[in-house]
Amino acid sequence: MPSNLFLHLPDGDADLSSVYESLQRLQAPPSYGVGDVFPEAGELAGLFFGDSGGDDTPAETSLLRTAAEQEFADTGYSPYSFLRDQPITYGGRETFDVQAIRRDFPILHQKVNGKDLIWFDNAATTQKPKQVIDAIRRYYESDNSNIHRAAHTLAARSTDGYEGAREKVRRFINAPSAEDVIFVRGTTEGINLVAQTYGRKFIQSGDEIILSTLDHHANIVPWQQLAKERGAKLLVIPVNDRGEVILEAYESLLSPRTKVVSFAQVNNTFGTVLPAKTMVAMARRYGARVLIDGAQSIPHTPVDVQELDADFFVFSGHKIYAPNGIGVVYGKKELLELIPPWQGGGNMIRDVTFEETTFSAPPHKFEAGTPNVADAIGLGAALDYVSRTGVRCIEKYEHYLTEYAREALGRVDGVRLVGNPRERVSVVSFIIQGMPVPEVGSLLDKEGIALRAGHHCAQPALRALGVEATVRPSFSFYNTTDEIDRLVEAVRRIAARG
Ligand code: PLP
Repeated sequence: MPSNLFLHLPDGDADLSSVYESLQRLQAPPSYGVGDVFPEAGELAGLFFGDSGGDDTPAETSLLRTAAEQEFADTGYSPYSFLRDQPITYGGRETFDVQAIRRDFPILHQKVNGKDLIWFDNAATTQKPKQVIDAIRRYYESDNSNIHRAAHTLAARSTDGYEGAREKVRRFINAPSAEDVIFVRGTTEGINLVAQTYGRKFIQSGDEIILSTLDHHANIVPWQQLAKERGAKLLVIPVNDRGEVILEAYESLLSPRTKVVSFAQVNNTFGTVLPAKTMVAMARRYGARVLIDGAQSIPHTPVDVQELDADFFVFSGHKIYAPNGIGVVYGKKELLELIPPWQGGGNMIRDVTFEETTFSAPPHKFEAGTPNVADAIGLGAALDYVSRTGVRCIEKYEHYLTEYAREALGRVDGVRLVGNPRERVSVVSFIIQGMPVPEVGSLLDKEGIALRAGHHCAQPALRALGVEATVRPSFSFYNTTDEIDRLVEAVRRIAARG
């Protein structure tokens, strides 16, 4: 049974060489290797003992954990383990504990079709912790008001909450300024905003827009519409049979005609992580602008828009534990100043006469009408929650779940995994020989297991790997290996019937 042990470092300045020395003294079972160190800022820096393919017993891992507790007793570093998802408390301090995290998500604690609900539809939408639900409730119970315009106390509180959430987004994605962060309904609306503003202003007949085969329909249709309208051409980066983009083919598509490159940083059908930074740098050489669809990357990997150097980065709140109906477009300041507003109305103007309107500066020029204040505040609370839990820890834990699931599902007779990208997160796609995908989905629903069974709004991606539909469990940091075991058992029973 693979198992992992983490070590929380109290701050980003930990003396990592002494930590390494201590780890060498642990005499871990041979199948353990000391993995990456994440001296990231904040209290949840972690250290990873990677399973290196061994068959560790719970007793071995338990021994290692005890040894780690003793070794680090005086340091304040807290080891914790993912072994069979058991919580570990250390020195009276709360550590990452999947059971404690689960208690924050009320919706997970219910029966569906007589069985404990297992939520494996996280790539479609994530569940909300009570901290997010409470933030929205508090807002409506005590602060609700329209923002910016009214000069009273509740308006001031609402404005502070809304603008405070914008600052939280800025910090989370490391945007240079909160003014570069536009609130929209979600990824789909964000991509449409960019296509309809930047695209309409700058794309001419004969220009080329490059997308990836792995894109969600949300990153295909808006560009297709724009290309038709402007007489531009769509080019598509092909994929190999693992479900990875072929960089050499991308290189050969790029040319001075390329005006926009737009792609999903993480694909939603196979969980492929695209080499976004490299792809942006390649586009830059031809002067193309780049939009990154971050719908599936934002919940699973650290995002730094300055490091990525993308011109636009777009994501949906609901994929990262925030409410539906709120999302973000980050844009480089010089571009946001250059492009026209999208929709017109209140809130986005400086002055209006019947002859002429002048517009506010970004981001307000892109936020016509009464904004979704409550859900922006909910998004801020969700990002706080994720930051407190630790983005690096989440990434590692979800990687562990994903590999665990791939391995176990791959061993079931009759199951074929679809896609095998080397860089991947959080998604497993499979089919069961002789069993229609929708039927598998509804049989699993009878077991209380919620997952996606269909084309996942990414038909070109699936067709590139020769299928029309797959069964797709997708994981979050509130999922456990026990839940995966239940899924695998259910799949085994279904496959045996098929
Ligand atoms: N892009 C990707 C990669 C997605 O996975 C999704 C949703 O699944 C979207 C875009 C669309 O997101 P939304 O429906 O929140 O606008």
